[in-house]
Amino acid sequence: MGARLAALIARGGAIPLSHYIAYANQAYYAGRDPLGAEGDFTTAPEISQMFGEMLGLWAADLALRAGVGDFALAELGPGRGTLMADMLRVMARHAPPARVHLVETSPVLRDVQAAAVPGAIFHDDIQHLPDDLPIILIANEFFDALPIRQLRRGEHGWREVFVRLNDDGQFAPCDGDVPMEAVVPAALRGAAPGSIIEACPAASAIATGIAKLITRAGGAMLAVDYGHMGARIGNSFQALSRHQFADPFVEPGSRDLTAHVDFGALRAALEGGGLMVQGPVGQGDFLRALGLDARANSLARAHPPRAAAIAGEAHRLTHGDEMGTLFQVLAARSPHWPASEGFAP
Ligand code: SAH
Repeated sequence: MGARLAALIARGGAIPLSHYIAYANQAYYAGRDPLGAEGDFTTAPEISQMFGEMLGLWAADLALRAGVGDFALAELGPGRGTLMADMLRVMARHAPPARVHLVETSPVLRDVQAAAVPGAIFHDDIQHLPDDLPIILIANEFFDALPIRQLRRGEHGWREVFVRLNDDGQFAPCDGDVPMEAVVPAALRGAAPGSIIEACPAASAIATGIAKLITRAGGAMLAVDYGHMGARIGNSFQALSRHQFADPFVEPGSRDLTAHVDFGALRAALEGGGLMVQGPVGQGDFLRALGLDARANSLARAHPPRAAAIAGEAHRLTHGDEMGTLFQVLAARSPHWPASEGFAP
């Protein structure tokens, strides 16, 4: 992928950062299972079954209170399928069985997911999700993998960040040619030289599509990711390789490229599409409100040799120094659906 991208830039000139990320991540996910100790990064469902169990309770509670019989359960970017498998195990005890739809582009990960979630139906994008049943959608660490655009205040004012090849043939960020002042929020326009702001049009487009789907079909969505509220100054574009931060401009396609999610933009897109939004709240508060501590205690009682490990997992998922506040949870629903559990009123 690095060589192909370099050839593309050598031929046609610098490309927007968003194109660089899209090409690199497409190749990255298509070619490997990046999760877990052997891979590049880990996620909440891979840390503990309790994460999926709490999300399963969230979904079952919502489906029951919405009074739906048959419904679809969909996940965006399901990784190894662990989250969905954990949810389904819990939901089987509380709610009617759901038809499972997985939105995944990577052929390698589809194979892993099909083994974890037998009978799941696969889709390339949200456009093909069914709208003939109420639908509950979940997305954990999905939006952070979508390509962002960056604007940087350089010596010529605000410009979009592009990627070029430097004299050594290495990828390097550079300023685009077009003045971008007009798209910088007025409150941020006067930021110091060198300042960067980010936007993720792909995330907003998907949120708008989801809002349309949920408006037609009835239902709800839960999004969990690391992020913040609203446009701000800051560069969150990063690469992870073997659980270490790495240079995102080296070896595109072989390291995980992500950026923080702007929950303000997600919220605006979902509300603009007619949905009611709750949150975001911290992942720790959300999981505890759904009963994570009680679940950790009962698991520890049932498996005494694992008690310390289970307490450690609960700590990682909920503590402010770990994933508890960096990760945020947002729920959206069609107006005639009940509000979600897990969000303080
Ligand atoms: N949700 C999982 C995995 C997160 S990794 C977990 O919590 O463990 C990101 C996931 O999103 C991977 O499954 C990846 O293949 C998928 N993905 C990334 N970009 C995508 C896109 N544009 N469309 C669909 N899936 C995508």
